[in-house]
Amino acid sequence: MQHLEHEIDRLQLTMMDLESLVDQNSYARLVDLFVDALPLEDLGFRHINHESTGRPPYHPSVLLKLYMYGYRHGLRSSNKLHQACLVNVEVWWLLKGLRPSPRTICYFRANNTKAFKKAFQHFVLLLKEWQLIEGETIAIDSFKIRAQNSLKNNFNQRKIDRHVDYIDNKIAEYENQLNEADGIKQEQEIKEKIDFQKEKKRKYKAIEKELNDTGQKQISKVDADARSVVLHRNIVNVGYNVQAGCDSKHNLFINAQTGSVNDTHALAPMAIEAKALLGVKQMNVLTDKGYTTGEQIAKCTANNITTYSSPKEHSSQKNGLYDMQIFEYNESEDTYTCPAGQTMITNGRWYNKRGHKVKHYKTKACKGCSLRKQCTKNKNGRFIERNYYQPDVEQNQARVEANPDYYRQRQQITEHQFGTLKRQWHFTYTLVKGKEKVLSEVYLCFSIYNLVRLIQILGVDELKSKLGELVLPFYDQIEAFLAVLRGCNQKRQIDLN
Ligand code: SF4
Repeated sequence: MQHLEHEIDRLQLTMMDLESLVDQNSYARLVDLFVDALPLEDLGFRHINHESTGRPPYHPSVLLKLYMYGYRHGLRSSNKLHQACLVNVEVWWLLKGLRPSPRTICYFRANNTKAFKKAFQHFVLLLKEWQLIEGETIAIDSFKIRAQNSLKNNFNQRKIDRHVDYIDNKIAEYENQLNEADGIKQEQEIKEKIDFQKEKKRKYKAIEKELNDTGQKQISKVDADARSVVLHRNIVNVGYNVQAGCDSKHNLFINAQTGSVNDTHALAPMAIEAKALLGVKQMNVLTDKGYTTGEQIAKCTANNITTYSSPKEHSSQKNGLYDMQIFEYNESEDTYTCPAGQTMITNGRWYNKRGHKVKHYKTKACKGCSLRKQCTKNKNGRFIERNYYQPDVEQNQARVEANPDYYRQRQQITEHQFGTLKRQWHFTYTLVKGKEKVLSEVYLCFSIYNLVRLIQILGVDELKSKLGELVLPFYDQIEAFLAVLRGCNQKRQIDLN
């Protein structure tokens, strides 16, 4: 059996245009249309207008097209993107042969952080206009990405203490050796080791001072905004916790945030931002139990946002003791009735528990109660803490329990996207430093995800036609301008004749 023969002779001179090398359904063509349809100047991209002197800059559309093409194919670093400009035919076509340097590519991402956010939001509003985003139900979830900061360069008080202890022991060890040193040379060597350890200790003490002065619990030396986060299965690394809001209609991204290492305070800011962006009067939000706090639920309720946030287990459930739900709350008397039928009362004071306001309820009947073993391990009897926002928590719980199928949509709406971003596009780490820049990279990824998702939802032809409609007015203006020029030219010819 023979092998397949090659089709092109390397030495044969071939004439072809770039247009014919790029497939009509290529993603590069969608990127080209999409970026041309963006009002880049209004979105704040730099170098739309430039000085008449000096070297002309690249138009931002060129670099944005390069990023949108590259990220989709796992090409994220400026060097890889530059390399694509040299070898990738679709990139040649997209950039019309331009080859920006790695430095130019890198600066574009760093200098247009706000514009990336505005471009993403512009896209989201466009999707709403196309009725692909409803804003009725959104799901919020988070994923972790690694930062440009190693674990070695992240410090908290415990880590500093551990290092300082180690150094003190080392110095003590060297000082003992110094007493038994044989000869000046050995003495000198040991002294150098001691000086080296002392210098290290000074460095740790300086970090400790910085920690105390700023009042922070941890410090990252390379990327100051990065924090140590649990990436997965107890693996800790330094990174960012990225919040993502997705609309339920077609699972498209609608907003993003980053900052806190956990989800406890993220529900209300994310939901309120999404509601304001989409301009809807009411919205339902689905989240897992990491987001469930009374305060956040109450803030959402006050903003006409209905939460379906998975209820948290009460600690008594984990201990195998009577569940809190068995204790019946009497609103009019502000008391609880316990499983033994006793009334648990409060002194009416609000106590501060880790930043939350709580009231205490207890009964003296616990002393001789026959159910005590199943009820409490506390030697003073069972006592209940009622959160200031308990009514909001209970209403949320009742909603989730009454609508299990509705709540179950949460996973389908958010989690698939994270898999695509991480596994296919390698977005498990960020290439930039600082919260704002990291977030701009997230917006870029989310914009690309939404564009790629539209191929599935609308199909290439319809998407091209929709994007083409947005680009056309621009071409219409050019055509009108050219028509005026042609008219002037004809008039000049007539005058000359
Ligand atoms: S231990 Fe106290 S709270 Fe629990 S059932 Fe008995 S009386 Fe009620």
